[in-house]
Amino acid sequence: MPPSLQSLVRMGYQCTFGVLQAGQYGVAQTRRRANILAAAPGEKLPMFPEPLHVFAPRACQLSVVVDDKTFVSNIVRLNSSLFRTITMSDLAEIRNGASALKISYNGEPQSWFQRQIRGSQYQPILRDHICKDMSALIAAPMRYVPLAPGSDWRNLPNIEVRLSDGTTTRKLRYTHHQKKNGRSSTGVLRGICSCAEGIPCDPADRQFNTLIPWCLPHTGNRHNHWAGLYGSLEWAGFFSTTVTNPEPMGKQGRVLHLEQHRVVSVHECARSQGFPDTYRLFENIFDKHRQVGNAVPPPLAKAIGLELKLCHLAKLREDAAGNIKQEKMDTTGREQEG
Ligand SMILES: [Zn+2]
Repeated sequence: MPPSLQSLVRMGYQCTFGVLQAGQYGVAQTRRRANILAAAPGEKLPMFPEPLHVFAPRACQLSVVVDDKTFVSNIVRLNSSLFRTITMSDLAEIRNGASALKISYNGEPQSWFQRQIRGSQYQPILRDHICKDMSALIAAPMRYVPLAPGSDWRNLPNIEVRLSDGTTTRKLRYTHHQKKNGRSSTGVLRGICSCAEGIPCDPADRQFNTLIPWCLPHTGNRHNHWAGLYGSLEWAGFFSTTVTNPEPMGKQGRVLHLEQHRVVSVHECARSQGFPDTYRLFENIFDKHRQVGNAVPPPLAKAIGLELKLCHLAKLREDAAGNIKQEKMDTTGREQEG
């Protein structure tokens, strides 16, 4: 029993506990969260809301890497690209670091979802379609990771590129034998630090200003090759759980837009959570991302709220019925006395 649940029970509350999938309540996102419903003694304990939408786990995505290029199978799935298209296609294209708090939509709503999320009284102003500004070196790999589902930092070319700040990246040099995987098929070294040979790290082996961040292959063998870092959202189906701080090298993985060289915008995250476009967020971009990422998706909150309302109404009805019964008993009692 979770500690918070235990405390509630000890305090005399009636409790129930369940894991809800937000995707079943009308958001294009997979988000499973533990939920506790509790009611004070004498009140009615609410039920968990019935799922409103079918939300099946995504089918597997097949892709294969040949000569450093990613090829994706052309399997057509039932919900292929549906969610991405219906939730996002009316949002204008923006760049890394875009900071204009109000811009125009990319035309009229193109789906039922877009009409709903804009709201009937919507202003033709798109708010908070803003994007965290990544430094030149962090931003560069976002431009070189292929725009293909499933690609990530492992698809980066090992090249020198000129950065927006005028500097140039270096090639990653493979200087050590890699004990674990040996040499590549063409016989070249694959280690970038003395630890690849099974001896302690040598700080002198560290490389800076490389397009492929040195730290990723350095510890990749211990971390599932850092799969998903610098990865674009696989939003052919639905969004992965919305994060509070999109970072290309963050452990939560895929946060790059699938078609634009940037991390997801605040507004895109808000839509993936089901926030109406008219909803106002405040303070700086980090605060806004955190407000959105930490939120219970509004459609799920609504479904739970309706259950609470049902309980409240049922309790009022029961109380009213109880009063009438009591009055009748009182009246009968008085008649018998009389
Ligand atoms: Zn090392």
